[in-house]
Amino acid sequence: MSYAKVLSAGLVGVTGHLIEVEAHLATGLPALVLSGLPDTALHEARDRVRAAIINSGQEWPSRRITVNLLPATLPKRGSVFDCAIAVAILAGAGVLPLAAFDRVAILGELGLDGAVRPVRGVLPMVAAALRAGITRVVVPLGNAQEAAIVPGVLVKAIDTLHRLIAFVRDGVPMLDPSDQGVPAHGAPGPDLADVAGQPLGRRAIEVAAAGGHHVAIFGPPGAGKTMLAERLPSILPELDDEAALEVTALHSIAGVLPPGGRLLRRPPFQAPHHTATMQSLVGGGSGLAKPGAISLAHRGVLFLDEAAEFSGRALDALRQPLESGRVLLRRVSGATEFPARVQLCLAANPCPCARPAGDVYCECSPRVRRRYLSRLSGPLLDRVDVQVMLPPVTAADLLCAGAPGESSTTVADRVAKARAAAGARWSAKAWRTNAEVPGPALRGADWRLPARDTTALLRLLDSGALSARGFDRVVRMAWTIADLDGRHRPGREDVAEAIQLRMGVLT
Ligand SMILES: [Zn+2]
Repeated sequence: MSYAKVLSAGLVGVTGHLIEVEAHLATGLPALVLSGLPDTALHEARDRVRAAIINSGQEWPSRRITVNLLPATLPKRGSVFDCAIAVAILAGAGVLPLAAFDRVAILGELGLDGAVRPVRGVLPMVAAALRAGITRVVVPLGNAQEAAIVPGVLVKAIDTLHRLIAFVRDGVPMLDPSDQGVPAHGAPGPDLADVAGQPLGRRAIEVAAAGGHHVAIFGPPGAGKTMLAERLPSILPELDDEAALEVTALHSIAGVLPPGGRLLRRPPFQAPHHTATMQSLVGGGSGLAKPGAISLAHRGVLFLDEAAEFSGRALDALRQPLESGRVLLRRVSGATEFPARVQLCLAANPCPCARPAGDVYCECSPRVRRRYLSRLSGPLLDRVDVQVMLPPVTAADLLCAGAPGESSTTVADRVAKARAAAGARWSAKAWRTNAEVPGPALRGADWRLPARDTTALLRLLDSGALSARGFDRVVRMAWTIADLDGRHRPGREDVAEAIQLRMGVLT
């Protein structure tokens, strides 16, 4: 009986794991048996590995082959083990010397023709190999630059199983990450300087960015709601190392990492369409689970344009992740969890006819308008601090369209300073942004605003125009406004502006 062992890596949720692939070759009826909790895709691996070995000009060992994936307790999903299985079988059959792959992790899916195809999740898998002390990896050429993001790992790439065999047999060099091609430079994201007028909308997203507040922008078509939302990431701080790795890994697992092999440093922006499937919103799928838009927006912005058009089911599915910062996907093959800490940005028309308020053609009654927006109110608006109603763009706005507004860089500077001030104030409580501060803390003895500064707010509360929660939201925003303007504590003016930033849909 012959035996060979090769290293590979797998993925459970967002966490990579080092996997050992063993091949035992024994006399007996020719067969290939896979064990170690394989899923359906792994059974299909049997056909792929066999065809790929034969189509790479090798003989298929006509023996009883048992392939074991360890540790057996870990669920193994996807096709990433194909290459390691093929190498283990060829080495076990005595066709390939194994010395070249001592302490090397081999990742990649095989095509029937022997081509090596890219797989999802290479970044967290290579990071896992490194954690286990493995500093050399062989990956599909299409994943090479992504693998090279992990510092301290030597990455070699293959495009065919034949190339790997030629390397071991004849010393023909494998490929390098640079062989994947030079990526086009990504265009810079949209800049706030492009937005003409709309001081209320600009201020709304600046306050949202500074305080980490969810934001809802209402307004007639053409008021610039989408333009503003798309520019929210451009004024958020860059991701720190830990967040950048998390975000890049999630995009790797979804298979949507842009080429070029760089950590994603900018907060991501995801704008799923209102007709998007549940799976594309929250994640799922068969085999290796895919993160949905809410996880791809982790540490960034989830933008729901025409939010009132989303199905009740879709809006409802966002409720739990918004609360916990995680998505739990329950599937037949077991539960998977993905992070989903997002800043929510909603945009909606004020009424179903989508004509400007006060427009002669809009005949929607206040009741119709309320009902239209009530679809949002329960699950989502309840958590949204900043809620503004944009006026239609005026002729004056259009006339000054040539004059650029303040740039994203300038606004991002103020946002960063405000965040630093808030972070320092709440550091003892581990709240990083004003949005995270619970209502009771805002109303407690330490931080309560003096009554003389909140009279306007108390009047709204008494008249029923503002709910108790709404009261807390206004106070939270007042703190953010004070942070932005460099004041130690919010005063009456800050409270007044915060009320303005809540007038979209009152309660
Ligand atoms: Zn209308």
